[in-house]
Amino acid sequence: MSDYYEILGVQRNATQDEIKRAYRKLANKLHPDKNGGDPAAEEKFKEITKAYEVLSDGEKRQMYDTYGSEGPSFSGGGGFGDISDIFESFFGSGAGPFGSRRQSTRSGPPAGQNLEVTVDLDLRDVVFGAEKEVTVYAPSRCDNCNGSGAKPGTSKSTCSSCQGSGSVSRVRNSFLGQIVTTSECSNCSGTGEVIQEKCSKCGGEGLKRNTKTIKIGIPAGVDQNTVLRSPGNGAAGRRGGPNGDLYLHFNIKPDENFVRDGNDLIYNLDVSFSQAALGFSTKIETFDGTQEIEVPSGTQSGTVKVIKGKGVSHIKSKNRGNLKVIINVTTPTDLNHEQVELLTKLAEISGEEINHGGGGHSLFSKIKSVIN
Ligand SMILES: [Zn+2]
Ligand SMILES: [Zn+2]
Repeated sequence: MSDYYEILGVQRNATQDEIKRAYRKLANKLHPDKNGGDPAAEEKFKEITKAYEVLSDGEKRQMYDTYGSEGPSFSGGGGFGDISDIFESFFGSGAGPFGSRRQSTRSGPPAGQNLEVTVDLDLRDVVFGAEKEVTVYAPSRCDNCNGSGAKPGTSKSTCSSCQGSGSVSRVRNSFLGQIVTTSECSNCSGTGEVIQEKCSKCGGEGLKRNTKTIKIGIPAGVDQNTVLRSPGNGAAGRRGGPNGDLYLHFNIKPDENFVRDGNDLIYNLDVSFSQAALGFSTKIETFDGTQEIEVPSGTQSGTVKVIKGKGVSHIKSKNRGNLKVIINVTTPTDLNHEQVELLTKLAEISGEEINHGGGGHSLFSKIKSVIN
């Protein structure tokens, strides 16, 4: 994995001016016209151009800062739709947060720790996506030694135990044949280098305690099981090793009015027997604004009204699910005398059998009529 900041030789917080200057300088040096078609220079030129293309564009840069460079090409189209493929790497069902750790083929100091954080979201955030600030305790590079762990002004030498590879292999002979085991070099703690004099501030680790707040763009459609990976936002590595990743989990707070069902939203609308029988219309407040609900006469309890496209966005396609309004016809309780009379009359007209007057009343109604 290539780091665009490293490629251009600028700090992560470099200004647009610094980025432009760094690119111009490198481009001047590496331009194919000046290198007589040297394929290595040409490759390098492509690389810096790619890095510049991303870092010089505010939106792409933010995306890169948040999601890293492992996603699809940032050069096509831009915008939020393009990153859907990135999510493949985030949401691989089998790959747990630590199962899909980047394969390290580079030598040098080991990468920093991966960190995890849980972000609280409400249903509106899930429906539309949101930008959230998360604060994590993440060791960062020591300022005094710039992460190297060596006292400023002193030099480092290649570790003699591992010849700078950071790992040592041991060959054992067993009845199964030769077994090669590779482990981290203990002499240099896997960094490949030995410090002559340790930095006094960090004791040679190259790290300092730090809390950082990061803005994360959260796509619409996440759920409690979603794990989002934000590459490079984990802890800094020891002695200048690359940053680990940050894994985001989500806690979605229940909503007062809506229940999520996959990408659909469910709303329960209570209507009275008379309203269902005679028909009426009402308005409900949805995440998209006021929605008129028409309940035609003769509506049965359990009827579902589907309002297309007003549900939760699908995490990949951005198509939205539906809003489903379930009509629930309620049976009246605590009827007053007049209501009882009218309903009794209705039943009689309809030829329905009911409990009449005092005779068939429940014990409860009897007690009630005594009290009244
Ligand atoms: Zn230090
Ligand atoms: Zn070593």
